[in-house]
Amino acid sequence: GLKMSNVSHEFGSNKVLNDVSFDVAPGELVCLLGPSGCGKTTALRLAAGLEKLQQGSVSINDQIVARPGEYLEPEKRGVGMVFQDYALFPHLNVAKNIGFGLQSLSDGDRKAAVERALEQVGMSDFYNAYPHELSGGQQQRIALARALAPTPRVMLLDEPFSGLDVARRAELRDSTLHILKNAGIATIMVTHDPEEAMYMADRIIVMNEGKVMQDGTPEDLYFSPKNRFVASFFGEVN
Ligand code: ATP
Repeated sequence: GLKMSNVSHEFGSNKVLNDVSFDVAPGELVCLLGPSGCGKTTALRLAAGLEKLQQGSVSINDQIVARPGEYLEPEKRGVGMVFQDYALFPHLNVAKNIGFGLQSLSDGDRKAAVERALEQVGMSDFYNAYPHELSGGQQQRIALARALAPTPRVMLLDEPFSGLDVARRAELRDSTLHILKNAGIATIMVTHDPEEAMYMADRIIVMNEGKVMQDGTPEDLYFSPKNRFVASFFGEVN
């Protein structure tokens, strides 16, 4: 699982995260929910190692991977990522896109890993296709396959369904849930859509201005919001 403990972060004088702590167990999907600019993406980037930790600590499977002055590189953390703006390479076919991060494997092992990841996302027939030949939803699936291929312990998803139409969103939500649960991966997903969080999450962490407002099950947040902010957020569902 993933554990963030007492993480604070500043960009210059802008305090973006203020003593944030949460954990995600293997096979659990936790949504980070909150308005634009509240620090959701920064929290994910710190977990991934794309940003150096200033205060607190990050652990993966009970091993500290980051604390001030200590830092394990992203590729050594066993973390998969699908980010909003993390596009496929247009000039590489699907197999090469997925195999890109698997350079340390032999050709045979890499091919097997690519085939397995494609099967996981139900896209085995698209091994030789190029990104421009795929729909938006199919491209998102390939991005997910690319993140799954190195068999990560933790998956970080940042608005992974943005830019998809309603039908494809619904379809991809279900298949993504199924894949991640089956693989027993600890998943944290950023969204600003309360409905999406209610539907997908085992637990929801509501953030505002760099702080955790509430951490609980969808039912907890909906029926027992701790404060007005959380309540107003879920008022928008109905
Ligand atoms: P959104 O939902 O709009 O993506 P968010 O909750 O993910 O927002 P962050 O992207 O974490 O929020 O940004 C939090 C704050 O940190 C914002 O005020 C943003 O301008 C600032 N910020 C983020 N990255 C940097 C950076 N590299 N340098 C300076 N400021 C940054």
